[in-house]
Amino acid sequence: MSMSIPEEIQHYEKKIYDQKQLIEISRALNSTLDYKYLINAILDICLAQVQTLQAALFLTPEMDAEVLTMVEGYKGFDLNMPPETYTISVESPIVLFFENHNKSLTLEEFEKNLPGDSTLVMLRGLGAELIVPLRAKNRVIGLIVLGEKAVGGEYPESERSFLVDLASLGGIAVENARLYERATVDLMTGLKNHAYFQSRMKEERDKAVKRKTPLALLLTDVDKFKNFNDTYGHQAGDEVLKAVARVLIESARNTDFAARYGGEEFCLVMPGADEETAVAKAEEIREKIEEMVVQSDDDELKVTMSVGISSFDPEIDIRTNKGLINRADKALYACKRAGRNQVMHYSPDMG
Ligand code: GH3
Ligand code: MG
Ligand code: MG
Repeated sequence: MSMSIPEEIQHYEKKIYDQKQLIEISRALNSTLDYKYLINAILDICLAQVQTLQAALFLTPEMDAEVLTMVEGYKGFDLNMPPETYTISVESPIVLFFENHNKSLTLEEFEKNLPGDSTLVMLRGLGAELIVPLRAKNRVIGLIVLGEKAVGGEYPESERSFLVDLASLGGIAVENARLYERATVDLMTGLKNHAYFQSRMKEERDKAVKRKTPLALLLTDVDKFKNFNDTYGHQAGDEVLKAVARVLIESARNTDFAARYGGEEFCLVMPGADEETAVAKAEEIREKIEEMVVQSDDDELKVTMSVGISSFDPEIDIRTNKGLINRADKALYACKRAGRNQVMHYSPDMG
């Protein structure tokens, strides 16, 4: 009797501690819409809270996909097959089980009921020990897969229920990040869309004012693209635009972002870049496009591109994006007049 009270208090103290942790975790997960960061955070929290060295997330790559794939950034697992072979059908018995049960299950518990199930064989090969469903809006959108406990032994019930709570917070955060991604990305090219460009550009202007740092805008336009479409067809045109977009995404520095301004006009926003840096980057992109060959059916497609550049001027650009865009557009027009396939920075004599 005299022992049981402190034990009970200890038990509740641990519960309160866990609840506080979950509130902190919820706050952390909901403070970002960055998908990769989020996934990493969820896995790190698992590793920190339940003392295992191995954690992975399986997620549907798109919202209505047929399979869950193991997301890059998994921790500690040694793969003996190529990463893309670690997939789970949304129709597999374990996913269907989790559709109806919001609880964690060990691999062993699954194996008792589903001997020989191919998903379980794959997970066994991976070294999985515990599986926790990641849910959003009452649907399974992924699975958290954890390896053996570093200290050995089984996952205690307290940890298992903690993980289920964590997964339901993580699931909502992942779903939100996806919705945001879907709303801000141009599906065809993978570039940020026009609405994102306008609002992020405003943020970058504000930062440039506060920090007194430069900011450059590159506006790109494919040369004679109407002719191209007329010659090779709209579908081949789309293939080329996707390839041009890839070049922009690959050329972007960590702090830059590339967007689809509209049609075949893309842009690269370069916070911190002075005129010289922006011109060099534009020239690098122009050359890559000039050298690029896009294979489509039997055709080897080639295009060139012009790039107009403007630099943030706190005297003119404090209120709106318009001036920066107009000046980049004027520089772009000057490139076209001068024969295309070139790069120009805005100067007042461009009118
Ligand atoms: P230039 O820019 O060198 O002056 O000539 P242009 O022929 O490229 O002229 P402009 O930039 O005005 O033409 C844009 C063309 O891009 C017209 C349109 O058919 C094509 N275009 C815009 N969006 C898409 C798209 O999503 N897919 C394809 N295939 N073509 C597109
Ligand atoms: Mg155009
Ligand atoms: Mg054009």
